[in-house]
Amino acid sequence: MIDFRSDTVTKPSDAMRTAMAQAEVGDDVYGEDPSINALEAQAAKLLGKDAGLFVSSGTQSNLLAILAHCQRGDEYLVGQQAHAYLFEAGGAAVLGSVQPQPVMLDTNGLFDLDQLDSAIKRQPSMHHFAHSKLLCLENTHDGKVLPQEYVTDAQTLAHEHGLGLHLDGARMWNASVAGGQAPAETAAGFDTVSVCLSKGLGAPVGSVVVGRQDLVDEARRWRKMVGGGMRQAGILAAAGSHALSNNIDRLAQDHANAIRLAEGLAKLPGVSVDGPHTNMQFVSFDGLDPAVLAEKLAAEDILVFAGSPMRLVCHLDISTKDVERALGTFSSAVTELVG
Ligand SMILES: *Cc1c(COP(=O)(O)O)cnc(C)c1O
Repeated sequence: MIDFRSDTVTKPSDAMRTAMAQAEVGDDVYGEDPSINALEAQAAKLLGKDAGLFVSSGTQSNLLAILAHCQRGDEYLVGQQAHAYLFEAGGAAVLGSVQPQPVMLDTNGLFDLDQLDSAIKRQPSMHHFAHSKLLCLENTHDGKVLPQEYVTDAQTLAHEHGLGLHLDGARMWNASVAGGQAPAETAAGFDTVSVCLSKGLGAPVGSVVVGRQDLVDEARRWRKMVGGGMRQAGILAAAGSHALSNNIDRLAQDHANAIRLAEGLAKLPGVSVDGPHTNMQFVSFDGLDPAVLAEKLAAEDILVFAGSPMRLVCHLDISTKDVERALGTFSSAVTELVG
């Protein structure tokens, strides 16, 4: 099976399972799970922050960070198309009474900073307004890396208005590797950063929120409240530590595979490719129904979502050989369907 649907579909390797089986564990609600404590320290160090908190998912990680920064009646500024607004079931509003202020992102995943500036509510004494408290950026966004200069400008703007800064860095590792930056550089200037272990890094479960000690402490209290206080979860944390130690640099291979895939697909009749952007690309087909194509591919054990455009994601369970085989299958299927 070659599964291009997402980098969330990766399965733990034998080496990762061994690390899990051998993990020392304890009751993490008492702070006594050595594997979780080690993972939190490892992530914090790698990202250049005071502290870390192991959580169940990227959604929980973003939620806890927003709740740590914002009180009831505050608001966070976030991309209209960003995960922390669009794909998290309204958690900050429902569970924190925190209002999102979405602002459009352009096709590169960037705010127009003038537009962002004018969306910040700047008269806190005005009793009509929610209090603007937090700016959330997302890196990568749909695989696209935020330019460092833009990040710095957005951070400066946030500081001018006294806003906290949160990075949804679910796929931040891909940005670091693609940009030749250390993870701590990509994470620099943010008060809190959420990173996923369960996407390109290949762990079965988990995210870490890292940041300033007081914010991570506050996030820990919220994690307990939403039922995220786990006990001997060091078995899961050991997978995360294994992922951080072994699977970051190899993301370059996924990026190289994505380039090979994009080059091959772009040569097919009626096919246009947006990307690749790190490990992702978005493919449009002229004169064929993506659902029919997806069915043909599935018959050859190649899985894609039949979207338009079709998002294809490279990850550690897709080898260069897999990419070559997939290109052959795409080629015959597209040629047959387009005629
Ligand atoms: C996947 C993702 C999340 C959420 O992670 P889950 O573990 O699926 O909850 C958050 N932000 C971005 C940008 C993501 O891609």
